[in-house]
Amino acid sequence: MPAAAIPSNESQRLESLYQYQILDTAAEKCFDDLVHLAAHTGNTPIAVVSLVDGKRQWFKAEVGIGAKETCRSDSFCAHAILQPNELLIINDTLKDERFATNQLVTSEPHIRFYAGAPLVAPDGSALGTICVMDTVPGELSTQQQEGLRVLANQVVSQLELRRHVTKLNLELEQNLTKLQSAEGQLTRHAFYDNLTNLPNRALLMNRLEKEIEWAKQDGNSSFAVLFIDLDRFKVVNDSLGHLIGDQLLVGVARRLENCLRPNQTLARLRGDGFTILLPEIKDMSDATNLAEQIQKQLALPFYLSGKEVFTSVSMGIALSGAGCELPEDLLRNAHIAMYRAKVQGKACYEVFSAAMYDRAVALLQLEMDLRRAIEYEEFCLHYQPIVSLTTGSIIGFEALIRWQHPERGLVSPAEFIPLAEETGMIIPMGDWVLYEACHQLYAWQKKFPSTLPLTVSVNLSGKQFAQPNLIEQIQQVLQKTGLDARNLKLEITESAIVENPEYAANTLRQLRQLGVQLHMDDFGTGYSSLSYLQRFPIDTLKIDQSFVSNMAANQEDGEIVRTITNLAQNLGMAGVAEGVETLEQAARLRELGCEYGQGDFFSKPLNAQAVEALLENKPLFQTHRDSSNWLGQLNYFLRHPILLYHSLKNTSLSKEGGA
Ligand code: C2E
Ligand code: MG
Ligand code: MG
Repeated sequence: MPAAAIPSNESQRLESLYQYQILDTAAEKCFDDLVHLAAHTGNTPIAVVSLVDGKRQWFKAEVGIGAKETCRSDSFCAHAILQPNELLIINDTLKDERFATNQLVTSEPHIRFYAGAPLVAPDGSALGTICVMDTVPGELSTQQQEGLRVLANQVVSQLELRRHVTKLNLELEQNLTKLQSAEGQLTRHAFYDNLTNLPNRALLMNRLEKEIEWAKQDGNSSFAVLFIDLDRFKVVNDSLGHLIGDQLLVGVARRLENCLRPNQTLARLRGDGFTILLPEIKDMSDATNLAEQIQKQLALPFYLSGKEVFTSVSMGIALSGAGCELPEDLLRNAHIAMYRAKVQGKACYEVFSAAMYDRAVALLQLEMDLRRAIEYEEFCLHYQPIVSLTTGSIIGFEALIRWQHPERGLVSPAEFIPLAEETGMIIPMGDWVLYEACHQLYAWQKKFPSTLPLTVSVNLSGKQFAQPNLIEQIQQVLQKTGLDARNLKLEITESAIVENPEYAANTLRQLRQLGVQLHMDDFGTGYSSLSYLQRFPIDTLKIDQSFVSNMAANQEDGEIVRTITNLAQNLGMAGVAEGVETLEQAARLRELGCEYGQGDFFSKPLNAQAVEALLENKPLFQTHRDSSNWLGQLNYFLRHPILLYHSLKNTSLSKEGGA
């Protein structure tokens, strides 16, 4: 029997068929109804919705045939689809040579009559037919043919409808899956830290709250909170980059986890701060033992992106009870203790005590007072002369900030500068100092044109030095005040440079280009290496006062001063000795080749008014305590060293701020 030809658009036709995703699906009532209606219309015992697949015809619905599919080669419908716009009607299959030998004709169900209307999809492809068949020859009236055509359209409409619904269902399912995973992520996000996968603050607080509740019910049980903070994490971040910083945090998290028992919670609170909740502890030793174990675990180096990184942590421990009603109370106490550990020199742990709390409150008070002080301009500058040890003349002043506290009187910067640094208040404060100092010096230059070209030294804190717009800011201040850049000296400390040497080198170079001079303050107390000194355009080393004050008592300190002086000379820098308090020190420094000195021996820091009095009367520097010229004394004693010792006994120093 000749099989039907393959339609010319076969591949497109199959593609069109497959997009309905209907083949091999279960029976559906609407299609069943349509075939019943077709049988009724054709007045035949058999009706089928047949879809012509590559090698078979598959029946979506049928009456009177009892099969799901047949070979395509036996399919009448495979013939019907060749002419999509027409019905195929075979009144007697035995009389049609295309079908006379067809299996379905020669054996069960012995088809003798066939009429099929093609199912034409919107793209023109004929997918199959709705057809009617009989076991006796027959025919269809025009009306019946029209009915079959309408039914074919109905089948296609159903197919289209079904396709849309399937698509919508699929989309709905996808959205649901997305929604569920988003929900999961949200929960994760709400309670876990992304970087380390550790519980976050919210989850820790939940657990702390429960722990407090249990402890209250139990009465006997106590628990502890350990606050852990990485030491100098910022340095790692700044010098090795954030990627390595992140890797370090993850590495630390994993090592901390290794120290824990299953019922203990490790959380990451923020940046480099971790917290451990230790439930059900016997006594404090449970917590301190853990702290020691952590210290040991973290002492080993980390290997991150091919670099060996060392770190340490400061820890604070707080025990439950003692008025801790809220999770926040415990966390705060542990934090205060951790802070204490930092102050104690880092890499250690501290157990919270009530005294610590009082101190923290006092610090907070100071912070609030400082904020007010900035607002109400309670600061003023004092100026300490810097003196040439060879000529005795004042070469300039160091501007030193003072806080006129409404209740406490003059407060020393040692008390508030570290806090101002920590809270960022140093920035507005430093801006003010820089402007005020430049403004003042310019005024003095105008008022006392005959004095040597004076300079003013301004201290720059690490935070100020790290400001990205530092150069422009200094330029602006110079412009506004009219001061020549050569008269401004900036004092920075070694730590400001060590934290980010690349940035520091660049910034110092730019400052130098402006014409500003650069002083290394408190030299010898920081961590800078000699290679830094060579790389950075520093003009002057200020020898820290600790070396100067111990010079006479301690041979070694004398050697340090000599070494620093020589170092400065060899590198083409000047040396300023800080904290010169006695004639003996001044003499010794001069002997060692130190060019400049600053200290109470010459003058305490003076207020602006006192400086003016000084500049008016004494172009050559004189001490307040006797009428003779200190330089004269110095020269005299240098010639008669034995007398120096005796003169020291009579030394009494002037009071700060007086004139
Ligand atoms: P520094 O820059 O090393 O300033 C020298 C300090 O030594 C001053 O302390 C000064 O009063 C003190 N001093 C001077 N001569 C003697 C002496 O003969 N004996 C003793 N024992 N001390 C002497 P001061 O004014 O209390 O300032 C302390 C530190 O505070 C300064 O050390 C500086 O680091 C910082 N500081 C002061 N003013 C400012 C400022 O405006 N900005 C910033 N960022 N820091 C400032
Ligand atoms: Mg200084
Ligand atoms: Mg200093």
